Amino acid sequence: MELFLALIILAFIVLFNLRWTWWRFFKKGLPVLVYHKIGYPPENSKLQNLWVKPEKFEKQMEYLNKHGYTTVHFSDILADFKGEKKLPEKSVLITFDDGYENNYTYAYKILKKLNAKGNIFLVYNTIGKVNTWHNTRSEPWINMASMEMIKEMSGSGIMEFGAHTMNHPNLLSLSPDMVSWEIRESKKQLETALETEICSFAYPYGAGAYEDKVRTEVLNAGFVFDFSFKQGKTPWPWERKSVPIDRLFIKNDENNLDLYLHLTRGNSRLI
Ligand SMILES: [Zn+2]
Repeated sequence: MELFLALIILAFIVLFNLRWTWWRFFKKGLPVLVYHKIGYPPENSKLQNLWVKPEKFEKQMEYLNKHGYTTVHFSDILADFKGEKKLPEKSVLITFDDGYENNYTYAYKILKKLNAKGNIFLVYNTIGKVNTWHNTRSEPWINMASMEMIKEMSGSGIMEFGAHTMNHPNLLSLSPDMVSWEIRESKKQLETALETEICSFAYPYGAGAYEDKVRTEVLNAGFVFDFSFKQGKTPWPWERKSVPIDRLFIKNDENNLDLYLHLTRGNSRLI
């Protein structure tokens, strides 16, 4: 009986340590959280992990507040990168990919309530429409934020914006001309619409981030920062020429222990 109990406890410890990587070394660098949809996933969604419920998101933002983190904008990391103004000691960049309407409905309202800052990567041609790049067999299409919402968020000083191409293609599957157009046109259109410099770019699906031809195109287009979809923390100050900036993918089934491990270890799971 005692041996049985000991085995159960041992199994629990092993599973816990496999699931939560508290035993990893602390990792230095700028933590960049990445979210997609803030809200309630439709029933039968096969993309559950792209959703974070508003209550959970609010708890995560409160956690950052309580533990001395300062949420920053793309313009803040730009000022630091240029040597104009140093980032606060415990800075964290909160990013949202794609630009869903629920970012306005939930995330923006929560960030505003907590006086925090967020950053959204927009897919220019889908603004005010739906996410047509998604296969509807995995989840029905949902609304994207309208230009009116984006302008309100931009004017509020709560959200800043980056580019995520024109149509959300896999950049590795396009001709060089189309790759160039998807990247450059998204910067140009957003700068015209928002009347501000767009310094940040995120690769749809993370595709092309580590492909020289694609990455060079992004850097030559004038984006200062490019964000991959690789899990981790990139050292800061950042060596722009060497690698894109890694991010910390916050999933639906994660709790504040996960958030702590993301921020300090660069991951909360083994895989
Ligand atoms: Zn995306």
